[in-house]
Amino acid sequence: MKMARKIVIIGGGDAGTYTLEAIFKKGAEVLKQFDITLVKKDKGGSASICAVPFALQGVFPMKDVAEIDPPEMFVGHGIDYRAETEATGINVEQSTVSLSTGDELKYDYLVIGTGRKPRIPAIEGADLNGVFTMSTVEDGEKIAAAMNAQDAKNAVVLGCGTIGLQVALAFMKKGLKTTLIAGHPTPLSSSLDPDMGTIVRERLEKEGATFVTGKSVDALKGDGGTVKSVVVEGEGIPADIVVISKGMLPNADLAKDAGIKIGATGGIVTDQFLHVKKGGAYIDNVYAVGDCVEVLDAITLRPRLSQFASSALVQAKVIVNNILGVSYPLEPALSPAIAAIANLQVGSVGITAATAERCGIRVVSGKKDKPTKARFYPGRKSMAVKLLFDAYSERLIGAQIISEEMVADRIDGLCNAIRMGMTAKELSRMEKSFDPCVSLHRDVMIDATEKAVEQLTKGKA
Ligand SMILES: Cc1cc2nc3c(=O)[nH]c(=O)nc-3n(C[C@H](O)[C@H](O)[C@H](O)COP(=O)(O)OP(=O)(O)OC[C@H]3O[C@@H](n4cnc5c(N)ncnc54)[C@H](O)[C@@H]3O)c2cc1C
Repeated sequence: MKMARKIVIIGGGDAGTYTLEAIFKKGAEVLKQFDITLVKKDKGGSASICAVPFALQGVFPMKDVAEIDPPEMFVGHGIDYRAETEATGINVEQSTVSLSTGDELKYDYLVIGTGRKPRIPAIEGADLNGVFTMSTVEDGEKIAAAMNAQDAKNAVVLGCGTIGLQVALAFMKKGLKTTLIAGHPTPLSSSLDPDMGTIVRERLEKEGATFVTGKSVDALKGDGGTVKSVVVEGEGIPADIVVISKGMLPNADLAKDAGIKIGATGGIVTDQFLHVKKGGAYIDNVYAVGDCVEVLDAITLRPRLSQFASSALVQAKVIVNNILGVSYPLEPALSPAIAAIANLQVGSVGITAATAERCGIRVVSGKKDKPTKARFYPGRKSMAVKLLFDAYSERLIGAQIISEEMVADRIDGLCNAIRMGMTAKELSRMEKSFDPCVSLHRDVMIDATEKAVEQLTKGKA
């Protein structure tokens, strides 16, 4: 009988869990071929971190998302599932992983899924009580306890990315006076152009948020070790809770200490099969997955991070297929994203105008705001669509959509259109289905595309 091959997975976040699930999906016969150990620093089974901001908003109890699958589920599949166990070292030459327990694991295949760590700017007072980040379920539980405290009145969020906005909404729902502080005047600046970001900002202001933008934070000030205010250019903003939400860094120290190559983004460098690199060569039995990984951007062809659960899911499939000897390369990332923010669905894919400019790509855009359904249909919503085309090739390279409905499928469709290299003209000729109860005969996306086609035609005249 053939010896089972050993797979060691470091990390039990989405990336590690999806890797396990991708193996489970291959069936019992495949599972039998492997001895799989998963080690993770945090406690319990798998969680849904993506759901934590909504638990804070009261959509469902935190306990429902803090553990989606208990360790017993994985053990039931024959996995040696070790929570509260840290990998302290990787020896690529010996194919071993050392653990905090003193054990050493030998592997045939290693999957590094050590995830992310919050970016914490060097601000005085960032270590005060009442100052939080939002990266783990534990963070969510701490924020919940702080915002539910009797004396909590004022909250400040540093940063206007998706997580910051979703946490700010939880504070507002709880009745806290909430201030968002960010460098850019409009939120979600890494995925939305300012004209689209304005829609989100106005919605949040309607919900009661105050924005302070374009100013620098001097310090967080406390009393008796607990935060009391955030000082912005000399002016104190009262704060019983502060959440620092300035983005996530890859947690790649373990890989780095093992001599594995780290890229300019701070993520682990990988090839198209997610093999890591050491000493100038890719290692064919060591993979990295999830938020700790650097990938190639499909539009700019530059390295980038793609810190989404949806990216980790695709990467896990690539790794498992590769281990099974199936050629299944990772496509360069387009990273379609969708975020629910104050009843708005905010979708984006590809690049923004600012990124295009930074990379020397000239863009022509088309934008339109229209109802989602026929004008006589009750309860229709408005939808804003902005499409960005490469002025040279006329291909779609970015899309941003905001509406109260029907955004996710459209963004995913446009992600495919980008992947297929569709041009503005091709997109403008797309056939669309119509029923007044669910769509509009002259669709907003076609209108936005036609605007871009006009611009492109004018540019050539
Ligand atoms: C609040 C929030 C909301 C989000 N919402 C969305 C969303 O709606 N949609 C979406 O697509 N993405 C979303 N994301 C991003 C998505 O959650 C991440 O891309 C995904 O969780 C990545 O998982 P990961 O396993 O790579 O990282 P992590 O979740 O950081 O997991 C890392 C794992 O590695 C373990 N670990 C680290 N170092 C060691 C070590 N030395 N030894 C052992 N174990 C170790 C940790 O304990 C942990 O188990 C959200 C992220 C956050 C924080």
